Amino acid sequence: MAKVKVGDLAKELKLTTKELIKMLSGLGVQVKTAASSIDEESARVVKELTRPKPIPAPVAPTIPKPVPPIPKAPVKSIPIIETEDISVRELAAKADIKSSDIIKELMKKGVMATINQRIGAELARDIVLAQGKEVSIKIKSAYVEAMAEKKEAGGKLVLRPPVVTIMGHVDHGKTKLLDAIRKTKVAEGEAGGITQHIGAYQVAVHGKKVTFLDTPGHEAFTALRARGAKVTDIVILVVAADDGVMPQTIEAVDHAKAAGVPIIVAMNKIDKPGVNPDRVKQQLSDLGLVPEDWGGKTVIVPTSAKQMTGINELLEMILLVAEIQELKADPEANGTAIVVESKLDKGRGPVATVLVKNGTLRVGDVFTLGSTYGRIRALLTETGARLDKAGPSTPVEVLGSLEVPNAGDMLKVMPSEKEARLCAEQRKEMQVSKTRAKALSLEDFSKEVKEGEARDLCLVVKADVNGSIEAIVKSVQNLAVGNIRVNIIHTGVGSVNESDIMLAKASNAIIICFNVGTSGNAETLAAEEGIEVRAYNIIYKLIDDVKLAMEGMLEPVYEEVIVGHAEVRQLFHFSKVGVIAGCFVTDGKMTRSNRIRIFRDRQKIYDGKLESLKRFKEDVKMVEQNFECGISITGYADFQMGDIIEAYEMREKGRI
Ligand code: GDP
Ligand code: MG
Repeated sequence: MAKVKVGDLAKELKLTTKELIKMLSGLGVQVKTAASSIDEESARVVKELTRPKPIPAPVAPTIPKPVPPIPKAPVKSIPIIETEDISVRELAAKADIKSSDIIKELMKKGVMATINQRIGAELARDIVLAQGKEVSIKIKSAYVEAMAEKKEAGGKLVLRPPVVTIMGHVDHGKTKLLDAIRKTKVAEGEAGGITQHIGAYQVAVHGKKVTFLDTPGHEAFTALRARGAKVTDIVILVVAADDGVMPQTIEAVDHAKAAGVPIIVAMNKIDKPGVNPDRVKQQLSDLGLVPEDWGGKTVIVPTSAKQMTGINELLEMILLVAEIQELKADPEANGTAIVVESKLDKGRGPVATVLVKNGTLRVGDVFTLGSTYGRIRALLTETGARLDKAGPSTPVEVLGSLEVPNAGDMLKVMPSEKEARLCAEQRKEMQVSKTRAKALSLEDFSKEVKEGEARDLCLVVKADVNGSIEAIVKSVQNLAVGNIRVNIIHTGVGSVNESDIMLAKASNAIIICFNVGTSGNAETLAAEEGIEVRAYNIIYKLIDDVKLAMEGMLEPVYEEVIVGHAEVRQLFHFSKVGVIAGCFVTDGKMTRSNRIRIFRDRQKIYDGKLESLKRFKEDVKMVEQNFECGISITGYADFQMGDIIEAYEMREKGRI
């Protein structure tokens, strides 16, 4: 797109540069000087806005292009919410995007949605933008953010440092390796001052930077991913040469693979006497990580975190892999960053360690941060040095947030404090609806297949012994219905743990377990995150269910839930409506949509639908415990004093 110089445009519009810059800022276009340039579209919008009303528009030299929906808004007025939320299906129809693409896009943001699920308008707008569609979903203040994002799309991309996470089995040397890398670099005089742990740090190798996330382990990695934040570019898998591949090594590999992040192996503790690297290489090959010197693609670097050997080689390999990945960002875009750690500091207030994703953060910038906001008071490196600005992949502590954010929250630079606050408020509202969102269940999946929304079924399989896992994997992997296939992202012996739940959440997978349960903490987490854990003790039943789901034939199983009881205490006869039973709700509640059963002397004498529910003479939807109500059923008059009315409903089973 052609560019227009701010100075030239100001002259043309008879404005001062300052006035124009301010106006552009109101539109979400950030420029600094008269020499800065803006895209043609923004220029057009400004021209339209500054054009005096009564004078007819000058004849357009070219055929007018349709004006994009966002700039139609006058500079200062903020569009009012027209939709608070929208179902995936509706959004798909309105924005002309396939629902499966919307679901995929939502997944990227860590929101697991089904086709009928409602998502917040802001989220909907993000999705539409991400899909490159132009649909005006009006929300308070959102247009400014939309402008900002649009601008990013046109920016120029430059290489950015890779972001690395260290994973591996406990005691294999993750922490020690992180320390060794840090020390090597500090010893080389790359940084001064006292290093503190801020959740991430950066080292320089031959003038090129590498960012390390300081929280090792796949749990932290997947927790961030489950919240929609993809920060890691490369995983370093630490495997102790003396111990070899262990259960958490396998978990780490599966987590990295599910995220599609390349793995470099650090074969650590090679200083130990009697280690057998070939044995470890064999084990790694069995996991699909075939070493380069064996004709495979996996880079394996022997290291000793204790003796500080192999560290430089490891760093060089990281740079090599990064180069192949061509990791890029636009330093001139509006700053966005992801929180990797946060705390409340007595003296400094809320402190967020963030990793800049794109653009540049500057001291003085106003931002939204998850559901809070603020102004950047200071940017600090892990050595405590103050920065004026921080570009892509830089880890920095941000001071100035109003509240302590959560790990995984996104920081976005905003044009004004007002916009930042409005955005934060919206997010807060959205969070409420998000927690209500449940993840995919096998029945949901089946329903989607039935509705033609086919995609692969991701599974996490846990079982009591290796033999059962093998049997399950073998049978399930061969299932294919049309173009739908099963993608097993992780298997493991033992009960379902928290890491399984987060992996399922991050990958929109369903957890299937055989002859094992769910650990206490994991059960709580699953309930919080709405993750379905399907437990079986008969293998063929498990396979059947998966197969049915893939055919779109797995119907939800309903279970009966008793909602409440009422006692008949009075009878009213009416010639028109028949008999109304005057009742007292003894426990629970009566709801008009309920089914009811009538008991007399413990014998069931009626089973059917509740037809009319009244409080005094008013029709009501629900009556709670300890209140009186009138109940009537068309064509049924056989109420007697002392009858017990039991209200119940059928609820979908299979969720914990
Ligand atoms: P983590 O649980 O993976 O973070 O492992 P740690 O970094 O805490 O290391 C576990 C133990 O292994 C500690 O006692 C370390 O001193 C030791 N260790 C780590 N790296 C090496 C190494 O390269 N060689 C030897 N001999 N010991 C190591
Ligand atoms: Mg450790």
